[in-house]
Amino acid sequence: MNYNIDTLCVQGGYVPGNGDPVQLPITQSTTFRYTSAEDMGKLFDLEASGYFYSRLQNPTNDLVAEKICKLEGGTAAMLTASGQAATFYSVFNIAECGDHVVSCSAIYGGSYNLFANTMRKMGIEFTFVAPECSDEELEAAFRPNTKAVFGETISNPALVILDIERFAKAAHAHGVPLILDNTFATPINCRPFEWGADIVTHSTTKYMDGHAGALGGAIVDSGNFDWMAHADKFPGLTTADPSYHGIIYAEKFGKEGAFITKCTSQLMRDFGSIQAPQNAYYLNLGLESLHVRMRRHCENAQAVAEFLSSNDMVSWVSYCGLPGDRYYERARKYMPNGSCGVVSFGVKGGRKAAEVFMSNLKLAMLETHVADSRTSCLHPASTTHRQMNDEELIAAGVQPDQVRFSCGIESADDIIADIRQALEAAKGA
Ligand SMILES: *Cc1c(COP(=O)(O)O)cnc(C)c1O
Repeated sequence: MNYNIDTLCVQGGYVPGNGDPVQLPITQSTTFRYTSAEDMGKLFDLEASGYFYSRLQNPTNDLVAEKICKLEGGTAAMLTASGQAATFYSVFNIAECGDHVVSCSAIYGGSYNLFANTMRKMGIEFTFVAPECSDEELEAAFRPNTKAVFGETISNPALVILDIERFAKAAHAHGVPLILDNTFATPINCRPFEWGADIVTHSTTKYMDGHAGALGGAIVDSGNFDWMAHADKFPGLTTADPSYHGIIYAEKFGKEGAFITKCTSQLMRDFGSIQAPQNAYYLNLGLESLHVRMRRHCENAQAVAEFLSSNDMVSWVSYCGLPGDRYYERARKYMPNGSCGVVSFGVKGGRKAAEVFMSNLKLAMLETHVADSRTSCLHPASTTHRQMNDEELIAAGVQPDQVRFSCGIESADDIIADIRQALEAAKGA
């Protein structure tokens, strides 16, 4: 049956059979028994699919990954221990020492650190391009050794809506895939594969889990990118893997399965950033209500953004649901039913006033987290993005006076009343 996305949130992935438990079983086992060495040997050669050690794969995780795969409309997916692991694996699966990646500069601070510092030490170079760069600038960012283009559908915390089709076109013109982090929009509001993205990543820690309960990440493959057509660029997928008896992933698993199979059997085997099956269970519980919660997050954010834009203590508001916002039209194209629950704004009086405002909030919690059922609030310049200098901050679309306000699913009236009294308190600060 071809279910709607709302039904897939509830019933995708695990389907209980006759007499089976209705709720997803947690396979709390590190390893799996086989009765013949031959059967087990086939698993190690990737000749048969099955489980042997939970550092690589676990049945609970795979059922939740299957649900996320269906939500995104992909062909294969895997869970990782965190969003950071998903970002790292998605790039490192196709780029190695001596390679180069083009990344949009408006991305999560953790991804920026990973790319600009840690992966650079591994010998992978990144060129950061502004989301609204000219065609010439985008073109000039590519090199012969470029292996991927990376971006975020809605950037955290700048709330830039990426022109997905434009970045996909540029990537494909250079024979490389577009990898998009779809954490903030979730597949409920945006399905990047429909606009040309090839690989999607998630920090499931955010809306997907939705309750600040479990860290996690996911990678989904659209199955659309033809690795063999660009065989010289992706030797890891198109030539023999000596660690699996000479398997060629793109030949054996095709466009649909090569990327995730390699990522699981090499990177998960060697780095082991697997999600605990217990966390996968919590994630699945969150996914069951993702469609309902996303609607409420967006309604509340719209109400908060409208309130803020008419308040004289607020210097600017960024929310793509506001007519006149610079991303209003683009959001209507890529995410017509809503974007996310996060609103950014500046408090008049700059950094100091923003701090007084934050300290006076009662319902909204000060925390680094974002995108869960509780309303929360953060000052990026002094926390998630503090490793950046002012120039890098502005390039990432973050203002020094910026407050990132993540609307939860409480009553919009209560959230607004809280903001109103905290803004009053910040007057004259
Ligand atoms: C939080 C976040 C990440 C990192 O995810 P973790 O689960 O914290 O490792 C990556 N991308 C975006 C957009 C995020 O918001």
